[in-house]
Amino acid sequence: MKDCVEIIADGQLIAVDRNITLLQALRDNGVNIPSLCFYPSLGGYGSCGLCVVEVYSSGNWLLRHSCLLYPEEGMQVRTATLLVQKQRAQAARLLLRRGPFHKKEVEEMLIALVQEGADVGDLLQKCDSAGAAGEGRAVPLIAGCILCGLCVRICRKVGKGLLTFLGRGENLRIGMVLGQKDDPCGNCRACRRICPTGFITPNARCTFTASLY
Ligand code: SF4
Repeated sequence: MKDCVEIIADGQLIAVDRNITLLQALRDNGVNIPSLCFYPSLGGYGSCGLCVVEVYSSGNWLLRHSCLLYPEEGMQVRTATLLVQKQRAQAARLLLRRGPFHKKEVEEMLIALVQEGADVGDLLQKCDSAGAAGEGRAVPLIAGCILCGLCVRICRKVGKGLLTFLGRGENLRIGMVLGQKDDPCGNCRACRRICPTGFITPNARCTFTASLY
């Protein structure tokens, strides 16, 4: 393997390519790491928070986004500790607040992560499946978009750069770059194909033009 390094993942020595993200390297070796904002050709982004793992550094185990790290010789990683599960559960709860999602499998995956992270019921008491999925949450300005930024990044990658983040705080959303809303986007549908939640309608330009107002 080109540029091969050895890392220890959950006690197992594995050889991986140092040029791919730790997330991809772990997945290539059969380790199940959840993520919604990662796409191999676009690199890591760290927005969904689901891919956290523990990495040993200077005598401590630190929570890190595996999509933002690259394997190093001798790196030690833990992918399924209670701390990792709890952190993923917390990230999943925040993402669920942005639903409901067109792709129900996304909601189901997030609810499962919330449940996995609930030891002795401390999380689960406050956030059972129904609650996690919808009760009592603030409805975001654009329900169904998790603000993962994949559509923005793929739009740039295909050379258009017509999408961007607009607004701040609770009003943060994806929209067409200001001044571009009347221009044709080309309708290549790259953003629709990459969107993990199914938020983007067949006419992507309509989806994002609507969010300008
Ligand atoms: S529209 Fe889809 S791809 Fe774009 S930020 Fe929202 S969830 Fe991510």
